[in-house]
Amino acid sequence: MPSPTATYTSSAAEKAWADHQILDHFYGHLPPEPRRTPMRELISTVLSHRTTHADEELAYDRMLEAFGDWAGVEAAPTQELAHAIRTTRWPDTQAPRIQEILRRIQAETGGPFDLDFLGDWTTEKGMAWLTDMPGIGLKTASLLLLFNYHKPVLPVDTHVHRVAQRVGFLGPKVSVEKAHSVLLALLPADAETLFNFHKHNYWHGQQICFFLKPNCTRCPLKGFCNYYQEHHGEATAEALAATPTQWDPTAWGKLPH
Ligand code: SF4
Repeated sequence: MPSPTATYTSSAAEKAWADHQILDHFYGHLPPEPRRTPMRELISTVLSHRTTHADEELAYDRMLEAFGDWAGVEAAPTQELAHAIRTTRWPDTQAPRIQEILRRIQAETGGPFDLDFLGDWTTEKGMAWLTDMPGIGLKTASLLLLFNYHKPVLPVDTHVHRVAQRVGFLGPKVSVEKAHSVLLALLPADAETLFNFHKHNYWHGQQICFFLKPNCTRCPLKGFCNYYQEHHGEATAEALAATPTQWDPTAWGKLPH
């Protein structure tokens, strides 16, 4: 593992790799595991758009309670489906989207609502098929393919994007959308590495590198972070020595799933 005390003036790929290795140690290496079943991952993400996690879960549960299963959701009157998912931000937009997604899955499988054919497809074919669906963007498609089918893709959300830009291995003008391919090109095409890179940088943005006031005191990346240098100067030996090397769940709380 590179030392957090090292100062990197090297290429973006070297910085991204150092970020990965240090955070892998800081948060702990994880086996690549899905958060939820493929169908749930896909449909919940549509429901989650600008909606709290609690309201997304409520909408998901009410939808399946009201219509029984995916066939029932697909066949439901769209207005009734919109009513069932009313805790989401835009139920009238999401209801027809969900039904169109279900129709496309059924057309692909010839019947069952099962996404496991994505595991047999090439990554490119799976990405193209998913992102052609209404309401499914690069982040959702990447999450599903990486988490559930171990395809070598990288989901980038605002947390991953912010950390990468502040540390300095992603340019300041690169959008979140564009960052999917830019960051992927910096890392090995290995699903386990990409899974850990995503999870760790996501946690880092959520727990330490906050949007408004990053908690740089606690951050093991400060030795080579551009933002840190610009705002605090070169990390001193004292600051580096006082930096924790591992997340402390007893003092700082449990990391989210
Ligand atoms: S040193 Fe500060 S700005 Fe840089 S990654 Fe860590 S928390 Fe973010």
